Amino acid sequence: MKPNFSGLRALVTGAGKGIGRDTAKALHASGAKVVAVTRTNADLVSLAKECPGIEPVCVDLGDWEATEKALGGIGPVDLLVNNAGVALLQPFIESTKEIFDRSFNVNVRAVLQVSQIVAKGMINRGVAGSIVNISSMVAYVTYPGLTTYCSTKGAITMLTKAMAMELGPHKIRVNSVNPTVVLTDMGKKVSADPKFAKKLLKRHPLRKFAEVEDVVNSILFLLSDSSASTTGSGILVDSGYLAS
Ligand code: NDP
Repeated sequence: MKPNFSGLRALVTGAGKGIGRDTAKALHASGAKVVAVTRTNADLVSLAKECPGIEPVCVDLGDWEATEKALGGIGPVDLLVNNAGVALLQPFIESTKEIFDRSFNVNVRAVLQVSQIVAKGMINRGVAGSIVNISSMVAYVTYPGLTTYCSTKGAITMLTKAMAMELGPHKIRVNSVNPTVVLTDMGKKVSADPKFAKKLLKRHPLRKFAEVEDVVNSILFLLSDSSASTTGSGILVDSGYLAS
């Protein structure tokens, strides 16, 4: 059953492409007022055409000051999806400060910053809320080249728990969704080597990667009252990979 979010306002980061775009569209279709945040304005223009009424915000979430300026006065938000992320791959031994800082700024620091802005508003209004952070199954397992990326996703696991701990008394739930490969632009890049992709696929008990829709459905579940007693937790959307 699709949830009904009528009367609620949702903010989705990384709403221009991939999982974030389909999440914004699903929330719009479920009756929510949607604030779509991303970096490329053309994506927001096309999204606003598809979903009239969506509020576009164009900002680089890796830039703390720009994010504060763009979102500091965003107003009431009931549902937050921290989805924006970058997968910048480097072997451990060649890892650079630039890639490390950029990855942590977008994948982790922005989650803290945007959640702070939104949670403060929820607390001030005295309303319940739900926050979903998009992590990854590589919060738990890794592959060569993913040192920095999987470290950001591991950090999201603890950030999710820490936020759940402190925001729980305010009736704000915080959970994560942890997908395996999803063949978005990012997923295609990460699994571009056909030999690696084939080997990886074989290790999934369901012999498939995840579909965007599977991830979106888990996000909607965690945003909705159907998961009213779930917080500090995560849903694996991994075609069974971690069982293998
Ligand atoms: P995509 O690369 O397809 O889309 C990411 C979206 O986030 C784009 O709209 C992008 O905008 C936006 N974004 C990236 N950086 C910033 C930034 N600094 N400021 C604002 N917006 C930004 O990725 P996916 O949809 O595949 O991934 C979404 C989330 O899911 C990510 O957190 C990712 O780590 C996670 N994930 C993805 C998996 C996969 O296989 N695809 C597997 C597991 C987790 P722009 O293009 O303009 O930069």
